[in-house]
Amino acid sequence: MTDRLYYHDSFLYDFDAEVREVADGPRPAIVLDRTAFYPTSGGQVFDTGTITAGDAKLRVTEVADREDGKVLHYVEATRDFKPGTRVHGQIDAARRRDHMQQHSGQHVLSAAFIRLFDLHTVSFHMADDYCSIDLDTPVLTKEQVESAERLANDIVLENHAVDIRFVTREEAGKLGLRKVPATERDELRLIDIRDVDLTACGGTHVQQTGQIGCILLRKFEKVRQGWRVEFVAGQRGVATARRDFTTLTETAALFSAHIYDVPQQARKSIEEIRSLRKAAEQSQEELAAAQAAALLAETPETGGRKIVVRTFAEREMSFVKLLAQKLTRLSPSVVALLASTSPQPSLVFAQSAGQPFDMGALLKETMSKLGGRGGGSKDLAQGGVPKADGIEAALAELSTRISARTA
Ligand SMILES: [Zn+2]
Repeated sequence: MTDRLYYHDSFLYDFDAEVREVADGPRPAIVLDRTAFYPTSGGQVFDTGTITAGDAKLRVTEVADREDGKVLHYVEATRDFKPGTRVHGQIDAARRRDHMQQHSGQHVLSAAFIRLFDLHTVSFHMADDYCSIDLDTPVLTKEQVESAERLANDIVLENHAVDIRFVTREEAGKLGLRKVPATERDELRLIDIRDVDLTACGGTHVQQTGQIGCILLRKFEKVRQGWRVEFVAGQRGVATARRDFTTLTETAALFSAHIYDVPQQARKSIEEIRSLRKAAEQSQEELAAAQAAALLAETPETGGRKIVVRTFAEREMSFVKLLAQKLTRLSPSVVALLASTSPQPSLVFAQSAGQPFDMGALLKETMSKLGGRGGGSKDLAQGGVPKADGIEAALAELSTRISARTA
């Protein structure tokens, strides 16, 4: 088994070791006799860093536990490293410090939920941007979340010592450990946050709770096994608060408002948008009705029906459709072949109820010529085409056929 130096000292960022195994292949990896690199486990993600021998430096991209108790250091290439090579390992200290703050923050937060509400943590997850714990509870309120956050930060400020202790399973039982993990090993590693929490854990932690810095609770939501509470600790907490503030400041500037007035301003804007939309719809209706009446007045009858052919620029398909509906309702003998060239080239075909043509079929036929997609019923059909080219010619041709009743 690899000697795990981080078990005894989480602040050991560099160490000497000897290569024991070199695995080439699709994922080159190195096994050392001892390591300070933390492999992904218990919710905490792996360390990164470098392994050096002389001038050769390998970047450690991932670290994982192997079933036989050895630690695998994944590297980009194993180069000249062989069993017996003396190496120096260097851990990315900023990443490790971040992980210690998140993981120790989790112990403190879980303890706060127990102390206040007897809510137990059933799982811990550490992601790149935030962490989360799942609490075994059917309900969780905003007030509970805020109280736990306050207590957790009090514990941080009280600067409790965080000790690492190694005990037997029997001793662990006597110490009143909440959950003795199921493992075959007799020795357990306990993390003792003095007067706050005692948990069996193999992760890396700070030495005093003050080093956690701060614990900021974020979203909380119902999940299958209870309630999930997202949090960020330490520098991550500060970075997150900074990002929130920047976002809020940008939003507030758009409203020319103070950041605390953003929700009120946003509500006001949404209401304004709703009423403007309603007014716009009303105007469109009126415009379509007026335009339909004008088009009917200027279109001569051909064989007892009016064939309205018109291509618009800058008209939404919804408006063109509305116009088609107005036209066919205003007169019992209309065939409307309408199109818009922008913003999206589109066609709308409509006929008054009782007219003999099939708009759906005619539209499909036109679409197959112009390379678009669409369809509809016997009396109303619509579709979009990729380009405006050819629309007018297609409508003119169709209009001639309808006049001659050959469509
Ligand atoms: Zn831990």
